[in-house]
Amino acid sequence: MEKEKPFGEVKKRRRLILVPCPYQGHINPMLHLATFLHQSGFSITIAHTFFNSLIPNRHPDFTFLRLNDRLSDDLVASSDLVSVLFAINDNCKASLEEAMATTVRDVACIIHDELMYFCEAVASCFGVRSLVVRTTSAAACISRLAIVQLQAEGRLPLLQVSMEEEVPNLHPLRFRDLPLSAISDISKMAQIILNMYTVTTSSAVIWNTIPFLEPSELTQIKTKFCNKIPIFPIAPIHKISPTSSSSSLLKEDSTCLSWLHKQPPNSVIYVSLGSIALLSNQELQEMAWGLANSNQPFLWVVRPGSVRGSDGLEFVLKEFQEKVGDRGCIVEWAPQNEVLGHRAVGGFWSHCGWNSTLESLSEGVPMLCRPYSGDQRVNSRYISCVWRVGLALEDHELKRKEVEMGIRKLMVEEEGRQMRETAMNFKRRIEDCLRKDGSSSCSLKELVDFIMSF
Ligand code: UDP
Repeated sequence: MEKEKPFGEVKKRRRLILVPCPYQGHINPMLHLATFLHQSGFSITIAHTFFNSLIPNRHPDFTFLRLNDRLSDDLVASSDLVSVLFAINDNCKASLEEAMATTVRDVACIIHDELMYFCEAVASCFGVRSLVVRTTSAAACISRLAIVQLQAEGRLPLLQVSMEEEVPNLHPLRFRDLPLSAISDISKMAQIILNMYTVTTSSAVIWNTIPFLEPSELTQIKTKFCNKIPIFPIAPIHKISPTSSSSSLLKEDSTCLSWLHKQPPNSVIYVSLGSIALLSNQELQEMAWGLANSNQPFLWVVRPGSVRGSDGLEFVLKEFQEKVGDRGCIVEWAPQNEVLGHRAVGGFWSHCGWNSTLESLSEGVPMLCRPYSGDQRVNSRYISCVWRVGLALEDHELKRKEVEMGIRKLMVEEEGRQMRETAMNFKRRIEDCLRKDGSSSCSLKELVDFIMSF
């Protein structure tokens, strides 16, 4: 973000309690927001769970409060995110109430992730304002609300429609793009959607999106669902404050940067499927051989535990290594923003998590989309059909030939070149939003003034 003087002077330091949801894609935006608000003069307490616990000494400017989530190892290992989220919301309330009882006089408001909806009731009970942070797109919100509607109409599971058909009023989303979870019970899922999007006493919504990216979606939300409270679209959150200390749950391997320095401009495809996606060993093999056969340099993140039934790196067979040699670099976790901003990186094979999508657009890097779950299919559809900055790999079993062709199309063919140009335009427009008087800067200033008014 452009260095400007801080937004106004906060006369009296007032404490804000920020409550991230304990997954990487939610922790990162909340900590950037926390840093920005601290720089704007507020004192910050981060209330975090035991599960995926943060490391306080990495963030000396903040105070930390641990919430007793009482999650069992079995539940965490089940990959049933919806059940984990219900348990977190049920179990963390008591710890937050206890902390509020002693600090309430200093607290200006509680700012919580949309999935930590228990905070709204706690704030209201102590007579303190609360603000919700939405870490997924406006389109994802609308598509989730469509799921609730389908559930209310008794149309789930989807048996009577072709998955290729567009969902009425949700152009360009098809039924197959809806963020339905294969693991979770549909009624539980509809309930969690309602819990996260029903705003009863919250005072405002802070949204990691930009009006120019989703103009009609945001307008629709404002008119239909937002209960007339203000929305502050402040994306991309990762650019609103410097990352002085990493919020990564895994250790970043920065050796890949020295490998990148040796590669020609725009030649490398960066491959990362985020912090949650799980693949089969077969899929990993197809990815590996597709990458090998594409003849493009690649930087590939293979997260520990991301391959079912293996340690992830077992696939690095002698034959594969011999074919790839120095053309490939594999790490367990990368400093993603530095990687995407590196001149050598010309494409991003992504699972299309919302943070990764915004991070890629912010650096002008076109994408090869292979979504897995949740809102990722919605993002993939917008990347390929609305913003036209990426290609979607087909949603069936991955084949190495398809991977090879997709990579070549993105990295060396005319279609990819055009997408890179379009992506660079997005980068410029995003930079404009972050300049003084840009839409995100104005929203941030309004947000600080709003909190100051409490
Ligand atoms: N990330 C990273 N290093 C990696 C892979 C991912 O730092 O090797 C970060 C990435 O920059 C993003 C977050 O992890 O901020 C992943 O969030 P996203 O919403 O893209 O996906 P999720 O992990 O929630 O599926």
